[in-house]
Amino acid sequence: MRKLRHELNSTGQVEYFLRVDDIERIELNPLLGKKISLSFNGEINCVACNRKIKKTFNNGYCFPCLQTLAECDLCIVKPELCHYDAGTCRDNKFAAEHCNIEHSIYLSLTSGPKVGITRTHQERSRWIDQGASQAIRLMTVARRKHAGMIEVKLAENLPDKTDWRKMLRGVTEDIDLRLLAEQSQNELDKVIAGLINENPNEYSYLEDAKRDLASPLSINYPVLEYPVKISSHNFDKQALVEGTLVGIKGQYLILDTGVLNMRKFAGYSTSFDY
Ligand SMILES: [Zn+2]
Repeated sequence: MRKLRHELNSTGQVEYFLRVDDIERIELNPLLGKKISLSFNGEINCVACNRKIKKTFNNGYCFPCLQTLAECDLCIVKPELCHYDAGTCRDNKFAAEHCNIEHSIYLSLTSGPKVGITRTHQERSRWIDQGASQAIRLMTVARRKHAGMIEVKLAENLPDKTDWRKMLRGVTEDIDLRLLAEQSQNELDKVIAGLINENPNEYSYLEDAKRDLASPLSINYPVLEYPVKISSHNFDKQALVEGTLVGIKGQYLILDTGVLNMRKFAGYSTSFDY
């Protein structure tokens, strides 16, 4: 298993699919309302090095990869702790391709409004992965570390986490994300001024950074029926997951028998029947 793949079509609907052995593509949206089953055969392989393992770390990695790969470093989830400038990055090539490139700071509506950051070129994909129903970019910066520094400060006044149960229940708060983005501009000004004051060499370019707010992007998920109560399937406890597929949102398959976090079980060998 790998995380769910998806595309946003021209009507704003997410189309989900699975890749089988990197070749075959199984469209999932047409399976809504139908019985599906996923059966874990007991074998787990690291998503990076393919080593056979008993348990995964960080959604699919073996322990050695967790400890050595740049994508498993703490600074990926806490980018404000980026240590590239100290010369201790685990992988300079990874940093050049994933971290020291344009990043967006955004507001999205998942279980409620939240602030987040991601690589600008894949922001839509990030918003879909987190199950956002709307998202708006606040600004872009030159590298992940800068985005992280700004996010940490904004998160003093805005949530930065998603309550995934609430997100999956489809509870939508009536929030004007564009208005919230406009209201956040003063705070953003203050945060940027603070960073420039601390380190003008590194941050003074942010003074001229463009901050044109576009309209929020609306994202519709293929969901027939949102669950009222959330129970989770877990391949570590039960090898067979089956039921009627009633929806897909974020990285979750929503079955009438419970939800399955596909990303959590990356690396698990399963057969898929429909
Ligand atoms: Zn590995």
